[in-house]
Amino acid sequence: MKTDLAGEFPILSRQIHGHPLTYLDNAASTQKPLRVIEAMQHCLQHEYSNIHRGVHFLSQQLTQQYDRVREKTAAFLNAASAQEIVFTKGTTEALNLLASSLGELLLQAGDKVLISAMEHHANIVPWQIACRRFGAELLVLPMNDKGELLIEDFDTYLDGVKIFSICHVSNVLGSINPIAPLIAKAKARGITTIVDGAQAVAHLPVDVQALDCDFYVFSGHKLYGPTAVGVLYGRYELLEAMPPYQGGGDMILSVSFEKTLYAPPPLKFEAGTPPIVEVIGLGAALEWLQDIGLPNLAAHEEQLRIEAEAALSELNGVSIYGQAAQKAAVISFTLQDIHPHDAGTIMDSRGLAVRVGHHCAEPIMRFFGIPATIRASFAAYNDSADIARLVAAVKTTQDLFA
Ligand SMILES: *Cc1c(COP(=O)(O)O)cnc(C)c1O
Repeated sequence: MKTDLAGEFPILSRQIHGHPLTYLDNAASTQKPLRVIEAMQHCLQHEYSNIHRGVHFLSQQLTQQYDRVREKTAAFLNAASAQEIVFTKGTTEALNLLASSLGELLLQAGDKVLISAMEHHANIVPWQIACRRFGAELLVLPMNDKGELLIEDFDTYLDGVKIFSICHVSNVLGSINPIAPLIAKAKARGITTIVDGAQAVAHLPVDVQALDCDFYVFSGHKLYGPTAVGVLYGRYELLEAMPPYQGGGDMILSVSFEKTLYAPPPLKFEAGTPPIVEVIGLGAALEWLQDIGLPNLAAHEEQLRIEAEAALSELNGVSIYGQAAQKAAVISFTLQDIHPHDAGTIMDSRGLAVRVGHHCAEPIMRFFGIPATIRASFAAYNDSADIARLVAAVKTTQDLFA
């Protein structure tokens, strides 16, 4: 892999409280390389206008660029066609779109929706809302205390299930779920499958045709791209059958006061002016990732995870939550009686950006009987020096509370 990737991220040269920034909050959001920043700035400075409805030069040119990012995204996920890529505001909006629109298409009173015990709130709450709306029931596939799903029990959860929605990688435990066999089993029972890929796409190669899922969703900002843009991949026939999520401009073929004809997917799901500049930024992020190569990145992060877990395990009083056999570089831990928020504050004073709290996954905290964890999560630009600073900051924290 290319070295000194950190040099491509201007923010990483900042000092925080007199210390070099050690950015280990990548599961919340990654920093942006110059390539993304410059692509967005260039767009705003030289190329900007609204898209899709202009006959003028700028509008036509930017529409082409926007459509090219759709094609790039389709290639990135190995989708069969760019028409299967819907741009959303992010993972949360994509899951809400599915819960509402796919829910309306598929769910009737007495039906079931299956999720897992390690979902982000974004893959829980929309389904609770949909279940209330359509009279369906929400089921939860349990996990063990290593943070591995009880896949041997999967079959016993499938009766009456219409929709199965699961995270590819847990944002708290790092577990890489064995989604391909689960999708295959669900599919054999006629169940529609959704994968929340928010924590996966920036860390391992994803091929939606190989996975054979019906939907796959992610956010731009966790993949070195900007906020306010996300992706919903959907099998075309399903996108075609689904009712629109929002109405407005851009999603129609014709409107009269009596009747509206909707545009075909993906535009049917992109009502209103889309996040144009952010989509351009997302395109640059995908190119940046492609240049590095996800297999290289996965190997780099796996090394960092093993090194960091070993170093943290050597310290007394560190409990790591999430010990799945297949794991991404997300390390949640606690320091005995030291409250994670106190630890996070002390670590911040040393220039460390880690996440403390429930990480939008309160049921996981409840499962382990803890209020919160400290989470260190790694990305392309992290290295062994970051791990050394993490370990030093943990020791400092422990010494202060000793
Ligand atoms: C971050 C995250 C989400 C929500 O993403 P937003 O960008 O906040 O919409 C959903 N699921 C997982 C697993 C996440 O990590």
